[in-house]
Amino acid sequence: MEDKIGVFICTGYGIAEALDIEALCKVATDEYNVAYCKTVESCEGAGLKAINEDIKSEGLNKVVIAGISPRQYRENDFPQEIIVEKVAMREHVVWCQPPNDEDTQMMAADYIRMYIVKVQKAEPVEPFQSEETIDKSILVVGGGITGMTAALDTARAGYEVRLVEKSDKLGGWLAKQHMSIPTKPPFRELEDTGIDALLAEIEANPRIKTYTSSYTSKISGAPGLFDVTLSSNGNGTSSEMVDQFRVGSIIQATGWKPTDPRDNLPYGKLDNVILNVDLEAMIKEQGRITRPSDGKEAKNIAFIQCGGSRAKEHHSYCSSICCLNTLKQALYLRGQGDDAKAYIFYEFIRTPGQFEDFYRRVQEDPNIYFTRGEVAEITAGDDGTLQVTAKNTMPGEQIRVKVDLVVLAAGMKPNSADGEMIRALEEAKVTVKEGESDIQRGEAAKKVEELKHHEGTEILNLGYRQGPDLPALEYGFPDSHFICFPYESRRTGIYPAGCVRQPMDGLGSRQDAAGAALKAIQCVEMTSRGEAVHPRAGDKSYPDFFLQKCTQCKRCTEECPFGVLNEDEKGTPLLQATRCRRCGICMGACPERIVSFKDYTVDMVASMIKAVVVPEEYDEKPRILALMCENDAIPALELAGQHRLQYNPFVRIIPVRCLGSVNSVWVTEAISAGYDGVIMIGCKYGDDYQCHFIKGSELADYRGENIREKLQQMSMENERVELHQLQINEYYRIPEIFENFHKEVIEQFGMNPFKGM
Ligand code: SF4
Ligand code: SF4
Repeated sequence: MEDKIGVFICTGYGIAEALDIEALCKVATDEYNVAYCKTVESCEGAGLKAINEDIKSEGLNKVVIAGISPRQYRENDFPQEIIVEKVAMREHVVWCQPPNDEDTQMMAADYIRMYIVKVQKAEPVEPFQSEETIDKSILVVGGGITGMTAALDTARAGYEVRLVEKSDKLGGWLAKQHMSIPTKPPFRELEDTGIDALLAEIEANPRIKTYTSSYTSKISGAPGLFDVTLSSNGNGTSSEMVDQFRVGSIIQATGWKPTDPRDNLPYGKLDNVILNVDLEAMIKEQGRITRPSDGKEAKNIAFIQCGGSRAKEHHSYCSSICCLNTLKQALYLRGQGDDAKAYIFYEFIRTPGQFEDFYRRVQEDPNIYFTRGEVAEITAGDDGTLQVTAKNTMPGEQIRVKVDLVVLAAGMKPNSADGEMIRALEEAKVTVKEGESDIQRGEAAKKVEELKHHEGTEILNLGYRQGPDLPALEYGFPDSHFICFPYESRRTGIYPAGCVRQPMDGLGSRQDAAGAALKAIQCVEMTSRGEAVHPRAGDKSYPDFFLQKCTQCKRCTEECPFGVLNEDEKGTPLLQATRCRRCGICMGACPERIVSFKDYTVDMVASMIKAVVVPEEYDEKPRILALMCENDAIPALELAGQHRLQYNPFVRIIPVRCLGSVNSVWVTEAISAGYDGVIMIGCKYGDDYQCHFIKGSELADYRGENIREKLQQMSMENERVELHQLQINEYYRIPEIFENFHKEVIEQFGMNPFKGM
């Protein structure tokens, strides 16, 4: 269909008071010959209704609205078949530039040009429709409290669930507990674990199919189309296939295992030094606490906190639950007689939230002694007793106690694929340089291959090019955007929950299970509509690869942070569309520029860049291109507008899906078009990254070398391109970033000599 483009310029929100609207309309009609340009008093409510009526009566199929921020609109504000581009004239121009100023007017006119060009280049987005039916059932891996709760929550919402547990029964650590810490006000008394009720509910639910003594020996496919093979655990004998089925999304609730105690504590060397989990198993089994050495009832116990955690060289993180567990176990001991005594040695006691009330209740017991100090020595006496010596105590004295048993608070580590190994894999990948032959890649390439198939530690056994499990952070917790998307992993449709995600108590695990269940449901529903899940929830676009021109360089497959692209034997990328998050990182990576979305292409942005009118050198009006990430940088820019912070009038801003989607050709196009410099602003990267696509802003930095080479070829200074990391609450830095760039780079190096060429 032929394009019929209409432009609506809003005169409300102070826009007409600040800008010459008639002149803007002339830009649209005279320079671009658009079919229709009209002013409207508002672009919300009645104004929006009027725009929609005009779209219909004028038969427009592409529309530009210059008014409020695109972020103020809802998805169904316009008919699906109409392509609408919105210019944030209020936020990006009127709120942050002086009114009725030549430079302000030039900025507004440039945005009209840029967005007319953008809408000209855009094509209607058609959601991805799989040829196969999208499956909406959900697989839960792990049958502990988190897995069981997730299965129940998902089934209650009407979805079929397969619950897989590797041991011979459901329950996990919950089933191994004698009692639970209090979960209800007034948070004073221990509670029944509730395991029997939970098991009965699972058994009675017809939507849950449970497999025990089984594991996921293979998972291939993508959200809505995951093909799962279950095998029997085998118990040392060969493992057999148990079942094969398809699911739509997966919750990984594989829980935790105890950390090893610190080396200076004699666990494994003295019989009567045990772990907190050993004590729990003992009382669950025999109803009382005894000394392993002789079976004599324990009357005095020393509990040593952080026995396996919070030491720099040894699980440096806090496991969050051990202190509460010790308080609970001290109460078990007190149930063994009025003369039973518990000595709790700690550096800090951590009892978050309402659990502080439980801590106070335990402190009230006169036979439970809390000592802040460091355990220096544990020695065994002849009679089976142990002597515990603590130093650096609060009173400054050494303290010695004689006890029957020492219980070490072991922390939690996730039952994920081994974190260290995954880290090694990532590191090895970094040393595998693109463009090098396999021989040049040598050992590093071999290591990548080996690590990808880390036999024996796999949990999910994903058939992904990028490895069999969820990529994890340093300690093995699956990688996620911890602020905005806590249940996400780097594999779309697979949601870690419970202690595999972070250390937490039972109550937290149940809440986590509910969160992951909702995410898994959201995934199958949105996937069935051909929409992206987080963070571009509802986006119906997806990347298209013009493979006839693909050189099999593998940059897209290696740089996609979500393992979306498999490869054929030649290295041609094979898109698994329902895994895609629509970040555009593959588009930024591709040197051949053959990856595009219907509404976001290399050509589209390059055309927007070129649409800006760049003044001649003698006008002394530089132009700075700012490519800003839609996730944090653009909202920050709007916050700057809301605070009426004024910024440099020579900047022209283009929002990008992620800095990782920036193709280096945009920078060279900008310099060739006469811009004096380019600023890229994205999310924070590194270990505590905030990039919504995990690696996008880091990749933009990494690819900077490429850009620098191109600038050198053009005899331009590297300094003309800058990359900044910005958090949304750092909106106040934006004027300074722009101003410093103008003063320190452009004024120092002068105007771009390519101007006017
Ligand atoms: S890089 Fe982003 S857009 Fe490209 S395939 Fe991966 S998830 Fe999709
Ligand atoms: S980056 Fe482009 S050229 Fe390279 S493999 Fe991917 S699609 Fe092909």
